[in-house]
Amino acid sequence: MGTYTLIKGNEISAEIYPDIKKRVLNLKAKGITPGLGVILVGDDPASKACVKMKERKCKELGIESVTVKLPMNVTEEYLLQKVDEFNKSTLVHGFLIQLPLPEHINENHIIDAIDPKKDVDCFHPENVGRLFVGNPIFLPATPAGVQQLLVRSNIKTTGKHVVIVGRSNIVGKPMAAIMMQKGIGADSTVTVTHSKTKNLSDITRQADILIVAVGKAHTITADMVKEGATVIDVGINRVSDNDLAYPGCSRLVGDVDFDNVKDKTSAISPVPGGVGPMTICMLMRNTVIAAEHALRNQI
Ligand code: NDP
Repeated sequence: MGTYTLIKGNEISAEIYPDIKKRVLNLKAKGITPGLGVILVGDDPASKACVKMKERKCKELGIESVTVKLPMNVTEEYLLQKVDEFNKSTLVHGFLIQLPLPEHINENHIIDAIDPKKDVDCFHPENVGRLFVGNPIFLPATPAGVQQLLVRSNIKTTGKHVVIVGRSNIVGKPMAAIMMQKGIGADSTVTVTHSKTKNLSDITRQADILIVAVGKAHTITADMVKEGATVIDVGINRVSDNDLAYPGCSRLVGDVDFDNVKDKTSAISPVPGGVGPMTICMLMRNTVIAAEHALRNQI
């Protein structure tokens, strides 16, 4: 093929932000400043960077951000107490716990304790169930961002075979739940694959739309992609690049061997600059949705 569309998350998220800003202003006019809470445990540099980015984006949009930083050795009991405080706070309308958590904390206990109406990551079982039955309060940020990339790039999904590589609770499973629903940007036939899938490339080659969330660079090579397919790369991997003039430098790559795959596709999202900016955008949108809910409950 050779001519493909580059699906740029920066440009597509920029189309969505004006609506979010408008909704923030509407809420403020009615006396509510949307608030996003973040609980960060430990000092993992990637998680810290991620939280900083969320704080910056909140500031840009006029959303209040409240970050609670806890040490790595925090007890589950204390963390649950902080979750309860956010559940009860009238200033924080939505909140999330930056994952991963240390091993001594049971992630499920923490997620179960979040008030589903404030669960802007959409991890609580009630919200996962709502997503599956097609009656969500929130859509999980990354899969929702992928759906927006497809819709806003005019990529038809109805009747298309969407193959998802990866079955995590954060990306793969909710992505499947979204694409199998009825409606715009969905109505797809969905196949979910994972590390135990046999003959993965036979399945990925059947994809009209291939969505990859594995966390390993170069998992998807050109021979695994059908000519003319759309490829969405969710993966974020930091690799050191010995070819660079500066040894020891590293760069971000996705799960797809972009350079060799791109010419086979009709459209492909890059890393960085593809799904990443959409995730944060959808998180901001969910925070506004949570604040709008709170306002409706006040009236
Ligand atoms: P997880 O590690 O939770 O899940 C990875 C999935 O990939 C698992 O289901 C695993 O299978 C599957 N897998 C692993 N190896 C293979 C293989 N060789 N072939 C097929 N499937 C395989 O990762 P996440 O879903 O949380 O994240 C995936 C990637 O997406 C990461 O790079 C992460 O950083 C990135 N990410 C990016 C976001 C963004 O905003 N852009 C947001 C969230 C994640 P099994 O279940 O059998 O182990």
